[in-house]
Amino acid sequence: MSMQLLNLRAESLTHPEKPPPEGRPRRSPMRRGGGRTSGFNRLVMLSLWLVLGAMTATAQGPSVPPLPRTMQIDGNTYVSLRHLARFYGFPRARPVGNQLLLEDAYIRIEFELNSRRIWVNGIAVWMHHPVTQHRRHWLVAEVDARTVLDPMLRPGPHVASLGYQRIVLDPGHGGSDPGGRGVQGSLEKELALDLSHRVADYLRMANNEVFLTRTDDQTLSLSNRMELARSWQADLFVSLHFNTAANPAARGSETFLLAAGGQPGTQSSTADSFPPATPANRFDGANQCLAYLVQQHLITHTQNQDRGVRRSRFFVLREATFPSILVEGGFLTNPEEEAKVLDHEYMERMAYGIAQGILAYQSLVLRAQLEH
Ligand SMILES: [Zn+2]
Repeated sequence: MSMQLLNLRAESLTHPEKPPPEGRPRRSPMRRGGGRTSGFNRLVMLSLWLVLGAMTATAQGPSVPPLPRTMQIDGNTYVSLRHLARFYGFPRARPVGNQLLLEDAYIRIEFELNSRRIWVNGIAVWMHHPVTQHRRHWLVAEVDARTVLDPMLRPGPHVASLGYQRIVLDPGHGGSDPGGRGVQGSLEKELALDLSHRVADYLRMANNEVFLTRTDDQTLSLSNRMELARSWQADLFVSLHFNTAANPAARGSETFLLAAGGQPGTQSSTADSFPPATPANRFDGANQCLAYLVQQHLITHTQNQDRGVRRSRFFVLREATFPSILVEGGFLTNPEEEAKVLDHEYMERMAYGIAQGILAYQSLVLRAQLEH
């Protein structure tokens, strides 16, 4: 345990270890918009959290404290960015043209009107619904305030009850299923396995228990992968893939997490209807933290094009009984990207970035458990 603590980089989404600038209170999961919390209230809230946490952690997943107040408009539930800014203690934000920026010492979030894509410390994150405007309010859907923004602004409650030591890596495809095929003939199943071994090496160096759903060229169904992860009592699951597209210009890395219940995935139109929540949705907040940190570190270390944190209903996300994400490292159908992933040095950097993202998530969980 102490070895692990030493080996983990002290880091979180909001970098709370950095001293805040003069005159601004430290952002704390216990602090509410509109004022400081007294020591006594803090203690009451802590006990409440412990009791509620113990009651609900195993049955329903993490319990999250109250969110910014909502507004009903035409039958939809929204949170105004002005209320959201006040709730999390951001300075007052005013739109400039069709953009609005929430920024403090730790985090910078850029919103664009009518866009589902936001930028969080420079990394693209896709919400379920676009930012809209009603009278003078800029609005995000309540589900996005709850499952996308809150986990990044206040990760603690979303992860404090979860484990972090048993990591399952899932090399996509294998055996009779080659997955995608590159322009030079590279096979997704081989690259995914190579990447998984490299990520596993870095995680083991940091004293983690790492399991691979396959360690060679083996055919494995999606449900077998889930069963294996369950039998290993996975604390988190990371599936590793490479992409293909009809358009050879398509490029970049992306990280998927499960879409919220009844909500559109990133590739879907918001007008369609979508399946309700599954038990896997109790990890929505943790998935957001894990996906964001992995995407952020992957992009930082590869400098590859950032396609962002995206939502979908892939089997290994939908059927998970633990936080679960799926990484698409790059497009094998793009000649430049295929050449990059065939380069060992580049692949090593990608593996390092993914491992650093997972370690950053672990340190987030550890910190949340120490604080609560
Ligand atoms: Zn694949």
